[in-house]
Amino acid sequence: MDTARVTVTSDTLSGQVDLHCHSTASDGILSPAALVSRAKSAGVTLLALTDHDTVAGIDEAAATAREQGVTLMPGIELTARWGRRVIHVVGLNIDRGSDALTDAISERARLRRQRAREIAARLEKRGFTGAFDGARSFSGGDEIGRPHFARWMVAQGYVSDTAKAFKRYLGQGKIGDVSVPWPALAETVAAIHAAKGAAVLAHPLKYGLTRTRLLALLKDFQSAGGDAAEVVCGQQNPVQTREIQALMADAGVQAGLHRPNLLASVGSDFHQPEQPWRALGSVHLPVGAEPVWALWQS
Ligand code: AMP
Ligand code: MN
Ligand code: MN
Ligand code: MN
Repeated sequence: MDTARVTVTSDTLSGQVDLHCHSTASDGILSPAALVSRAKSAGVTLLALTDHDTVAGIDEAAATAREQGVTLMPGIELTARWGRRVIHVVGLNIDRGSDALTDAISERARLRRQRAREIAARLEKRGFTGAFDGARSFSGGDEIGRPHFARWMVAQGYVSDTAKAFKRYLGQGKIGDVSVPWPALAETVAAIHAAKGAAVLAHPLKYGLTRTRLLALLKDFQSAGGDAAEVVCGQQNPVQTREIQALMADAGVQAGLHRPNLLASVGSDFHQPEQPWRALGSVHLPVGAEPVWALWQS
């Protein structure tokens, strides 16, 4: 089955819009079908499934979406490199038949497998025996991410929750923070464009950047041809939303425009029901923002 790209109508936009979430195809807890059902219950009419570095959940999500009258936009969240930093680029309304996208996904799968082995080796050295198989059992396959290690560590009783696993072992600067050469930002945007998708800078405030560095990232993203940035993602207060909008406007001005060059996207970054920060479908486009879905309105 091929899940086609979608067009956006007033019907599509009659309820909530959520353009960033995860299923069991990557590090989410709900199956693609259960995720779509939950979105439907939350009043979502336009949902983009954006699993980390994979489109494996989209057929199942689209089948449920068709049954329930939800528009399912095919998406992905690609892991990328900006200098020495890891950043995330969401690709929205992608054509999964694209060779460039398939290559981008294969490369990341290879890097993830290599990274998972190294993370496991380091954890083993610290006495966490069976880390690789443990993480794999939580991933349900080869798409192993750090959250799968975290969940295994919780299940083993090594830590009380996944946040602690990140804080002690897996987060930035900890032993499980293994760096691999993720494809660069510009290359990532190009792969999304080759697949006819829109490239969206994910959760700008999650990278721990100063305002100056974040502005530099927005400008680089813009120069690379990026289309939008998430003005609302996950846990965020209105002051932070305005801060992102102001930086987007500054980046636009510095590129010689009198407005933001980047469109605005919104997403919950939903991973699991108990997630304290943001429920599926609970995001709203701030006043004055030009939405990324304008690209697909006829
Ligand atoms: P990976 O894709 O393997 O690099 O893992 C990144 C994922 O880990 C993110 O998409 C989040 O789902 C999760 N994550 C990152 N930081 C934390 C944290 N401090 N606590 C819990 N989960 C986190
Ligand atoms: Mn995640
Ligand atoms: Mn992310
Ligand atoms: Mn995400």
